Amino acid sequence: MQLQTGEGVRGYGEAAPLPGFNRETAEDCLALLQAAGREIDPGTANELRSGSECVYGAIQEAWSEVRLQVDKKSTPADGATKTPPSSAPWQVAALLPAGKAALAEVDVRLELGFRVFKWKVGVADVADELVLMDDLLARLPSGARLRLDANGAWDRRKTERWLERCADRPIEHVEQPLAPEMRGADDFLSGLAQDYPTPLALDESLVGADDVLRWLGRGWPGVYVVKPSLLGDAAEMIARLAAARARVVFSSALETGVGARNALRHALAWTGERRALGFGVWPLFADSQFDGPFHAPFLKTADVERLNPEAVWNALT
Ligand code: MG
Repeated sequence: MQLQTGEGVRGYGEAAPLPGFNRETAEDCLALLQAAGREIDPGTANELRSGSECVYGAIQEAWSEVRLQVDKKSTPADGATKTPPSSAPWQVAALLPAGKAALAEVDVRLELGFRVFKWKVGVADVADELVLMDDLLARLPSGARLRLDANGAWDRRKTERWLERCADRPIEHVEQPLAPEMRGADDFLSGLAQDYPTPLALDESLVGADDVLRWLGRGWPGVYVVKPSLLGDAAEMIARLAAARARVVFSSALETGVGARNALRHALAWTGERRALGFGVWPLFADSQFDGPFHAPFLKTADVERLNPEAVWNALT
């Protein structure tokens, strides 16, 4: 969406949830926005909050961009006195395909300079995948790290089998071993996080602000995979995670350059411990002008600020 003030200052937000990422649909978001009309004041935005975290989030992002522009115009000298966030580049995790295909792919990505990898597991027999994991680890130079993502595919027994095997291996974390819908999943995940040394990461269990608050309330000791585009008021939720000194991996919800710019701005402003970004997803679109930043092992603020949401908007409308 494009938000424009009476003075012509514009900001952009993206509300485009994909199936499986949360409980919303892009059609619902569109219907809500069409019903809200062309003029959105803070009261309307708050009403939309209960209907859609993605729509509310997009409005917040667009507003925050507008405020940034207005502040820049009104106090141009201020920029020099503010401490800029660290400009050191962030590592980006490379995605590896499931199964044996990961072995060839990891060699290609290593050559490109990637050192953090995420491998999708839970798609084949456990014993076969455990052998493949060791084959993969054997290819990694020292200092490289492997994350596993089960996307909720395991049951309790399989999860324990994997975690026993991971215990003495350099696995950065195991993401979402159990489906959040499984009966007793939250308690079981909390128990596993205490029982095994490999950190567990929540992804599908964190589809919105309520989930973040619930897991913070439970004192989750593992990693939070945070997709800023799905959090509603992302700034507020990320501030809460920071206050709790949570371990966070920022991740893509497969946005266009509009949502990518907003989500990555949050990620790059994080002052807690840096974990490789889960944004190694582009190119995604047939027309490359809709993509987020170039797929590379490192990402800097300049790469994000170079994205032009207005160009994406103009190309789409
Ligand atoms: Mg995941």
